[in-house]
Amino acid sequence: MAHTAEIIAVGTELLLGNIANTNAQAISQSLSALGVNVFWHTVVGDNPERLREALDIARRRCDIILTTGGLGPTYDDLTKQTICEAFGQKLVFHPEILEEIRTFYESALHVPMPENNAQQAELPEGCVIFDNPVGTAPGCAFESGGVHVLMLPGPPHEMTTMLRRHAEPYLRRLSREVILSRDIMTFGMGESSVEELLRGEMARMVNPTLATYAKPSEVRLRATAKAASEAEAAAMLDPVERMVRDALGDIVYGVDVSGLAEVCLRLLAERKLTLATAESCTGGLAAERLTAIPGASRVYRGGVVSYWTSVKGDVLRVPREILDTYGPVSEPCARAMAEGARAVTGADIAVSVTGAAGPDPDERGVPVGIVYVGLATRSGTFCRSLDLGRRRRDRIQGLAANHAFDVVRRYLTGLPI
Ligand code: ATP
Repeated sequence: MAHTAEIIAVGTELLLGNIANTNAQAISQSLSALGVNVFWHTVVGDNPERLREALDIARRRCDIILTTGGLGPTYDDLTKQTICEAFGQKLVFHPEILEEIRTFYESALHVPMPENNAQQAELPEGCVIFDNPVGTAPGCAFESGGVHVLMLPGPPHEMTTMLRRHAEPYLRRLSREVILSRDIMTFGMGESSVEELLRGEMARMVNPTLATYAKPSEVRLRATAKAASEAEAAAMLDPVERMVRDALGDIVYGVDVSGLAEVCLRLLAERKLTLATAESCTGGLAAERLTAIPGASRVYRGGVVSYWTSVKGDVLRVPREILDTYGPVSEPCARAMAEGARAVTGADIAVSVTGAAGPDPDERGVPVGIVYVGLATRSGTFCRSLDLGRRRRDRIQGLAANHAFDVVRRYLTGLPI
């Protein structure tokens, strides 16, 4: 039988609306991929009585309770104590954990450890310890009366690190079934069109299942299989992937990749080519997405954010006649920007983006959503002209950056641009 879980986020800040409960979102995504049914999200302030109440309710209706927050050293960090009281667990002091915390303070934060950290080294007797390589508070898990309780810290990067390293393996061990997912990434078609093409198949599928998720400016399809072994689950996913690729063709740009930027970097590295960018309406977003990926420096030479027309002329050497005759948001300008970025950086290929991101038309009256993506290569210069419609400014920018990557990907794989 599938496990059922409740996520309890502890923190008054959450209740006051100061921060969003992104931890619950991340944990839910992870649990659903593991085949654990998440039936409840609870948020409770830094208050032991109300946390106690939430725990009493949760243990009656679920067999997995996952908490985040309240593991820190301050007086309002009460999750561990309250859980131990509720479940009748004794707290045990671990001197070796205190030493780890001390080392973290001294070597990573370069400050002496405040003495109130000692209570972070206390953990429920007999628990599975989740170490915290990116912070101080360790997490843990124990089982009591058929209920598994997992405690994770509040800071999101500590929480996600611990979730991947410890909580997911712990939960995987609870189930005899293996659940395997494959993310099939697409760009170039809206979610409803993708779904329409696959609706019949999706409705018939029970195991594996296939679901669509719209990310800003692209669509992810997640195929999930349950089986007795990983190999068996993988074998069940192969035909699903084939079916999706047959149905959607070359809008599928990758499987289990983070995004188009990652695919571009990999294709460039395989072909031993370098890339440069010239951005106007995206203001460096494409450069940011590329450089967010470790190792980007091997193939990404750099970019120019040529926001002012004068910078397009002075830095990227876009000819005056082009700027005067066609304007900065035009196909000739996009082409010249890409050529200029290629020349100025010495990269093998350069991609450019110029457009009207809104909310108002540009000064020459170009309507919001008109975007040109230029590509300069050894074998010539190309351009994709787009009308992205009257979307929100950030949506147009995000979509335009993805179009730039899509143009690069298509060029590198020999597909029509
Ligand atoms: P610390 O060791 O930093 O005290 P902690 O485990 O005690 O960690 P909290 O003090 O509850 O965690 O939260 C630390 C910070 O983590 C909060 O200020 C907030 O920025 C962030 N945070 C806490 N809970 C959540 C949540 N559910 N979603 C997103 N962010 C959160």
